[in-house]
Amino acid sequence: GRDEIAAVSFSVNAMLETMVADAIAYEQQKQLNQFKDEFIMNVSHELRTPLTQVYGFLELLFDYHGQLDSEQQKTFLSRAKYGCQELMHLVNSILDATKAGSGLKPPPLEDLSLASITREVIDYLDPRQREDYTLELAVPETLQVKADHQYLRQILRNLISNAFKYSPKQTQISISAELLEPEQGKSLPTSRVRICVKDTGPGIPPEEISQLFQRFARLKRDVSGAVRGTGLGLYVCKQLVEAMHGKIWVESTGVAGEGSRFCFTLELAPASHSTTPEQP
Ligand code: ADP
Repeated sequence: GRDEIAAVSFSVNAMLETMVADAIAYEQQKQLNQFKDEFIMNVSHELRTPLTQVYGFLELLFDYHGQLDSEQQKTFLSRAKYGCQELMHLVNSILDATKAGSGLKPPPLEDLSLASITREVIDYLDPRQREDYTLELAVPETLQVKADHQYLRQILRNLISNAFKYSPKQTQISISAELLEPEQGKSLPTSRVRICVKDTGPGIPPEEISQLFQRFARLKRDVSGAVRGTGLGLYVCKQLVEAMHGKIWVESTGVAGEGSRFCFTLELAPASHSTTPEQP
């Protein structure tokens, strides 16, 4: 009778629902696995480049031991050192991204000289990479910011090395900093500093800007492109800037050659005021 038909159709429905749910779960698992594979492949590839550099220069030192003058030895050693540094930064950025996922603790902030930390970061970049670009530095010597030394270095390093990584050789990269007008309408206006890294590379398509600081985000053109990456650098920058009460963003028209300008803000350290000449 009717009841039997209703019972059968009910169990068929239930069975179909389970099958659909299984199929969705399977599809999600498959996507997750594919995502993990891609991530592992990207990370391994990124690790291999500096590792090859370290290995290659150590091998040269080993094979030609006794035939190299001290200048050559020094050059090869420093190349191997830069490779190690790259490896360390890559591993750190993965660890930082993992930590950031579970919430970064705001670090104690010190008064730091922005110009000297920027120089420190630039000095530690691979000189061969630096030589291929025109680097312009416009950071006032008197500017002091409230920041964590490690965090600030890491943010600058990520932004500057991205500018190198994604821009054609022989282009210009500028690092600048300036004092912002205090925000109006706040009871206790805090002075802020805006720090920008501007390149003249391919730029960012406007429709992709809003997702750029998310974990694993890479531009469509770079996903299958020649430049490898993990999509963690900007995500880590955002977490670090926000842990120091700042903001980070990017400005770009998306027109190749007009480039991108990555900016972030930090609080001005009171010490900066004393080095600013008094107005009569
Ligand atoms: P990664 O460089 O490891 O992929 P990031 O989080 O540092 O990861 O950057 C995310 C993506 O943003 C990059 O894959 C690239 O597509 C884009 N990008 C970052 N910096 C620039 C830049 N200066 N110019 C153009 N594209 C950039």
